[in-house]
Amino acid sequence: QLKSQNISILATIEGGLNPRARTKSAKESAAKTLVDGFVIDGFHTYGSQSDTQLDYVSVKPILHEIMEILPKDKPKILLGALSPKLIIKLIDSGIDVFDSSYASVMTEKGFALQEVIDVNGLKVTENSLDLNSKQFKEDFGVIGTHCQCYTCVNGFSRAYINHLLNASEMLAKVLLMFHNLHTFYHFFAQIRRLLDEDSFQQLLR
Ligand SMILES: [Zn+2]
Repeated sequence: QLKSQNISILATIEGGLNPRARTKSAKESAAKTLVDGFVIDGFHTYGSQSDTQLDYVSVKPILHEIMEILPKDKPKILLGALSPKLIIKLIDSGIDVFDSSYASVMTEKGFALQEVIDVNGLKVTENSLDLNSKQFKEDFGVIGTHCQCYTCVNGFSRAYINHLLNASEMLAKVLLMFHNLHTFYHFFAQIRRLLDEDSFQQLLR
C-alpha cells in the first residue's frame, strides 16, 4: 500500500559489532525486493557518550561484509557521522547518504565550520572557529570572506555572533546554522565533483 502512495521504504541493518548478526540482518533485508534503501544502524555509543566517534577500525570489516550482500544500486544510509574525515572513510566503505548531525552539533557548541576540503580538493581539514571565545569580541569580519551563506553574505560579523552567544540569544544558533549547513553542503558538493572526476581517493591519503 505504501508503494502505491509513492513512499520509499528503508530497511535497517542491525547487529551491533557482531559480524554474524550483521550478515544475517543484511541478507534478510537484501531479500526484500520492495525496499528502496538501507539504514546501517547501531554503531554508536548513545547516552552521555553520544557525540563520541564511532570506532571506524572495528566498523570497517563489518561494513565490507554488509556491502558484499546488499544490492549495489540502492542507497546505503548511516546517521550520526560526526567528523568530515570519518565521512570520507565511510564513503570509501560504500555509504551514500549522511545526515547533518555534524553541522548541528558544531552549531550547538557555538562553533563555525571553516572550509573542509581545500581548493585543490587534496586535503580534508576539520578546522572551526569557537565563536564563544573572547578573541572574537572585536572581530568585525564575517565568518568566511568568500562564503555565500545567508549569514556571511549579509555581513553578520564574528563579533556580533560572539555577543549573541554570550547573551544566550537564540539568533546566534540560527545564524551559525545557516553558515554551518552551507559549508557542510559545499563539502558534499566537492565530494561529488571529486567522485565524478575519479579523484576521490586522494582524500584518503
Ligand atoms: Zn558563511
